[in-house]
Amino acid sequence: MTETIVMKFGGSSVADPDKVRLVAGRFVDAKRRGFDVVGTVSAMGKTTDTLLALASDVSPSPNPRELDMLLSTGERIACALVAMAIHDLGEEAVSFTGSQAGILTDSVHTRAKIREIRGDRIRAALEQGKIALVAGFQGFSRDTMDVTTLGRGGTDATAVALAAALGGACEIYSDVPGVFTADPRIVPGARKLDVVSYDEMLEMAASGAKVLMLRSVELARSHGVRIHARSTFSEEEGTWVQEPEGMEQPIVSAVTHSETDVVFTLTGIPDRPGVAAMIFDTVASAQVNVDTIIQNVVHGRAEMSFSVPAEDVPATRSALDASQAELGSFDVGENHGLGKVSLVGAGMRSHPGVAATMFRTLAELGINLEMISTSPIKISCMIARDRIPEAVRGLHAAFRLEREPEREPTI
Ligand code: ASP
Ligand code: MG
Repeated sequence: MTETIVMKFGGSSVADPDKVRLVAGRFVDAKRRGFDVVGTVSAMGKTTDTLLALASDVSPSPNPRELDMLLSTGERIACALVAMAIHDLGEEAVSFTGSQAGILTDSVHTRAKIREIRGDRIRAALEQGKIALVAGFQGFSRDTMDVTTLGRGGTDATAVALAAALGGACEIYSDVPGVFTADPRIVPGARKLDVVSYDEMLEMAASGAKVLMLRSVELARSHGVRIHARSTFSEEEGTWVQEPEGMEQPIVSAVTHSETDVVFTLTGIPDRPGVAAMIFDTVASAQVNVDTIIQNVVHGRAEMSFSVPAEDVPATRSALDASQAELGSFDVGENHGLGKVSLVGAGMRSHPGVAATMFRTLAELGINLEMISTSPIKISCMIARDRIPEAVRGLHAAFRLEREPEREPTI
């Protein structure tokens, strides 16, 4: 039986007609190497940003259904153009919208989750020897009969879901050659990682690494899809995201950062059981991804801070308005001056010294820690946003990440 391969190309890989032809060539190469080829592409270049800006020029809060109708066009354009270029190279290709390809989602506009892929038309195309191209980032809800989109970066999720449904390998191509020990624009000596475990990649994606969309890594882990994240513009091996192999895990694999979080601080909250639950229920039902949370009690009143990604700020504000109405008054402050630096490593589980080294390194740079949060394999600190590059460089050096990692035996 012919092996299936799912190849995904990001927006910068199809940003102009020359690049569209180059990507078409990569699909054709894979086909001629004997694979059944399924492709998915993002919208060209900054198309999605342009469409979002256009929407907000027309409407202060665009209707979500119509926003999905608008945004889903970007990937259709890219997909059809790649199919044309493939024809010119002498192979047959057929492009599909998410709904034609049978990508079924829930009905949450702008951040739908894939429920199932009915890939009948994809399979039929493959049987006819064609390259099947699926517009990324979109699906269709059976409940509402409407087009949905999967959230920013959602084409990664399309790719992983296709690989899970069709039983193929998943290659994610972009303008970066893989997953690095830190952002190479900040740390010139950052090293490309050969292998990253699903757990580490989830923490990295959640704490600012932009190579893969968080949800796509969740999907890959739950369906056991190995991801090969690699460069569109070279043949070089990239980074494999998969179950850890062997018995040793690096103590620290990478330093990640994010400069877009906003910290909300609520003061004067009644200090009784159920209050935090009520506030975070309201915030969660607005689909906000809350990250670091801290709470203190001062003179019988609770004070709570938490961070959210910048794009969730409007939803957070309205959720907090609703909680205020229900709980009586508390004050809400916003801090837009912080950023987050994180260390991620599977070997941290059994290695208690990492936090102390991290805090000491930041202290020696005179950087104040505003908030700290941890998981078994991650430590994050919120610090002044303008000190992020220094902190990333300092931590990369302190943990010697430019070298092959120290490894902690797990048994
Ligand atoms: N075009 C969408 C975005 O820019 C989806 C994607 O790139 O995967 O977020
Ligand atoms: Mg994009």
